[in-house]
Amino acid sequence: MSDHGHHHDHDHDHDDDQPGAHDAPLSGPALKVKALESLLIDKGLVDPKALDELIDTYETKVGPRNGARVVAKAWVDPAYKKRLLENGGGAIAELGYRGRQGEDIVVLENTPTVHNMVVCTLCSCYPWPVLGLPPVWYKSAPYRSRTVIDPRGVLREFGVDVPESVEVRVWDSTAELRYLVLPERPAGTEHMTEEQLAELVTRDSMIGTGQALTPAGRR
Ligand code: FE
Repeated sequence: MSDHGHHHDHDHDHDDDQPGAHDAPLSGPALKVKALESLLIDKGLVDPKALDELIDTYETKVGPRNGARVVAKAWVDPAYKKRLLENGGGAIAELGYRGRQGEDIVVLENTPTVHNMVVCTLCSCYPWPVLGLPPVWYKSAPYRSRTVIDPRGVLREFGVDVPESVEVRVWDSTAELRYLVLPERPAGTEHMTEEQLAELVTRDSMIGTGQALTPAGRR
């Protein structure tokens, strides 16, 4: 474990946070969004279930598919992978993924000897252009605190058993610096196309709380 010596600056706006992510009451944009949501539901203009489904779509489908394309390209194109590791934001922007919370993305390569995982200990900084909205657990107090104290224990709860011989590195996101994990390419995928490979790349594998799927584990 490393990279926890510094104090970082989380002095950015928090309209990405859900209620409950902080002890403080809602304020500013979050309060307005909550008020608007309540009003729309009260007036019968929005079905809360539909709203949940919409959020789920962005959390688990739309956003992370961008990151998956970045990872798959890095797996098949060594020159792209080199650019990605040297200048994450720039290489990601080559594929058209840019914007809010994506300015400075550092890509962390998992190897047979190093497993990277990402947290935001103070709030919920997350690389939006490649992963979409952060999942609820990413913003939860237990994940934010326990990942630092016991990363291997947290990984086990996600079903990821990292051998003692593999170093686990925990990276703390900030407003200025966000991280994307480049998971290891699974064995037995040599024959697969870039599009097929992208389907193996899960959201969690790009946060470091999962591995890429094997061809057999694909759904
Ligand atoms: Fe943060």
